[in-house]
This record gives sequence, structure tokens and C-alpha cells, in this order.
Amino acid sequence: MKTKIKNNLKSLTNQEIERYNRHILLEEIDIHGQSELLEKHVCLIGLGGLGCPIAYYLTSSGIGELTIIDYDRIDTTNLQRQILFNSLDVNKKKVEVAFEKLTQLNPTIKINKVDKQINSHINNVIFKNCDLIIDATDNFKTRTIINKISIDNKKPLIMGSAAKMEGQVAVFRNDLPNMPCYNCLYNDLDDENKSCLDQGVLSSLTGIIGSIQATESIKLLLNFGETLESKLLLIDVKYSNYRIVNLKQDKKCKVCS
Ligand SMILES: [Zn+2]
Repeated sequence: MKTKIKNNLKSLTNQEIERYNRHILLEEIDIHGQSELLEKHVCLIGLGGLGCPIAYYLTSSGIGELTIIDYDRIDTTNLQRQILFNSLDVNKKKVEVAFEKLTQLNPTIKINKVDKQINSHINNVIFKNCDLIIDATDNFKTRTIINKISIDNKKPLIMGSAAKMEGQVAVFRNDLPNMPCYNCLYNDLDDENKSCLDQGVLSSLTGIIGSIQATESIKLLLNFGETLESKLLLIDVKYSNYRIVNLKQDKKCKVCS
């Protein structure tokens, strides 16, 4: 990721200084980090239980440009966890409603709507200019495709998933050589289409996982602290169990090796 020279950064307006005051007070971000964040572009795939809090926090945090990708419509079962939507939004397109709500939240951010389903034929141009891809989808097949897109475009990938009372977050540095990818972790699951639709999911768990994905994004974009790079965070909220396992590249991986 490019590190900008501080005096090349755009200076903030008084309004921006006020809006982002609580970030600017943090030594890890301060005014330079906030200015840098305002020049970053994130591609977010999926506006479900994970995508809603991710989109919300990235927009309120002052990510300069956010591309939201989803093809679905809102249904009543979504309202238990998809916090960008309310009862009046049922049957509307998720990207349209999310665009409207996020623009109200922070009108200074550039938000691009992509009303498309992810498949292996999706146009790579969508991802060409972003700094980071976030996977907030809900099935193995789509995640495998997103992993491939992220490798082909050399973009870091932040993956999250939640089902029942368990969730996972991992950061794959697909922008760097010889790093583990999603398929090194799960290589025989191409046919698995399991999602929270058939297993159920605790509403607040999707908020936890989505918030961690948003947090990892900001850390990665501004290069502070330690991310979950090549690590898998496993959360079991039923037993309040949180653990991290290290990931290694599978030299036989069909996707990255
Ligand atoms: Zn791999």
C-alpha cells in the first residue's frame, strides 16, 4: 500500500476537522491519518448482516470512496440484523437503500452503487482502483470467487463470516507474494452453499464480525497496530470464546501457488 508523504496530503476543512474530531484526537490516526483515510477507496461486497455495519462505520469514519456491491432486495427476515434497513424498505434494492442512508450519514463521501451478483465473469474494472476488498457475503462459493478477484487484482482481502453463534475474520494479503489465501484455508468447499439462511444466526454476532472487519480495514489502510494478516480469528459468542490461529500458504493451493 502506498504511504503518502504527509505534506502531500489534502488539508481538512473546518467541517471535516469537527466531524472527525474523535479520530483526530487518537495518536494512531490524528489529522494526517484522517486526511489519508479520506483518499482511500474500499470495495465492499455484500450488504447483509456483516455488510451493513461495515458500510456504516466506513462511511462515518470518512473513507473517501466506498463501492457497495449487492444484487439483492430487502426482505422481512433481513431486518433482524441488517441495520441499514427498516420495515419501510422491504422489497427495495439493497444498494439503493444503502446508498440513500449512507449519503445521509456522510454526504461528503463518494459512494458507488454496483447492482450485480458476484460470479467469475464479473468485470474486474470495478476493483481496479480500490485499496482494499471486503468480503461480507454469506457462502463459500462466492467467497472463493472473491478470493480469486482479490489475487488477480493484487488487493488485500478482509473476509468475515457468521453463522449460528460462531464467526470468523481473516485478513489475506493477496497484494503480496507467497501469502496464504482464502483457498489455502478452505480448498474443497467449492460446492458448499451453506449460509446463515439455512443455519440461523444471532443478530448481534453479525454486528461484532462486521465491526471487526471495519476496524481491520482502517488499521490496514492507515498502517497502524497489528492486523489479522495471515491469521484467522474464531469467535464463539455462546461460550465467550475468542481465539486466533496462524495461517500458512498451502504450496499446493490451486489459486495462489
Ligand atoms: Zn492459496
